[in-house]
Amino acid sequence: MVWTAHILSLFPEMFPGPLGHSLAGKGLEDGAWNLTVRDIRDFAIGKHRNVDDSPFGGGAGMVMRPDVLGPAIDAALAGSDNVTRVIYFSPRGRVMDQAFVRELSDGPGAVMVCGRFEGVDQRVLETRNVEEVSLGDFILSGGEIAALALLDAVVRLLPGVTGNRESLEEESFADGLLEYPHYTRPPVWEGRTVPEVLLSGHHEKIKEWRLRQSEELTKERRRDLWDRRKRNF
Ligand code: SAH
Repeated sequence: MVWTAHILSLFPEMFPGPLGHSLAGKGLEDGAWNLTVRDIRDFAIGKHRNVDDSPFGGGAGMVMRPDVLGPAIDAALAGSDNVTRVIYFSPRGRVMDQAFVRELSDGPGAVMVCGRFEGVDQRVLETRNVEEVSLGDFILSGGEIAALALLDAVVRLLPGVTGNRESLEEESFADGLLEYPHYTRPPVWEGRTVPEVLLSGHHEKIKEWRLRQSEELTKERRRDLWDRRKRNF
């Protein structure tokens, strides 16, 4: 079975968007992954086709109705043999990281709910066993861009999408470290040279240099990652 994302959104035309291009787009065309997008409005209620309503308890904005979103999620799950995971993009969720991306890419896929307005009725999150996932500590106007970001990160890990799979092993976070600096031609540019060791052809020394650079960068820029790594290794 190919990895599948079932997107629920009020703006289905936002998909595949940027993921229709480059490696993800080619992978989609070749069947390396699969995307279905449902318009939440297809599950709207009454002759006004409402999907949202004002919050109980008062306050600004609108809340997406559980009697719209519940059936939308159920339909997405019913349309898939093996996908059981339901993700809702939300600033309250677990912040996505490479470990989460990798774990998700190892499974069969997910239903992904893109919120709008102030968010969704709490009951739908509880009854449908929804996992809340955040793109970061800031507020987007909708979940669609978070979904596109997560899909981009997942899809490039799938077999048949990224040509050079070795590059996946080396990049930032692969081993809990930020990546070392890169250099390419020309060897001298604006008077600046390339670190000697990289031109030496000495593979062991190059490996050592890169590891040391990765460690220094991580210590300096991301103390949180460095401390976590020290605990795990
Ligand atoms: N009132 C909410 C924000 C709603 S923003 C709060 O204060 O927490 C509208 C929608 O955008 C949300 O339902 C969610 O689906 C999406 N969204 C906003 N910020 C996000 C983030 N950092 N990560 C993932 N999704 C986000």
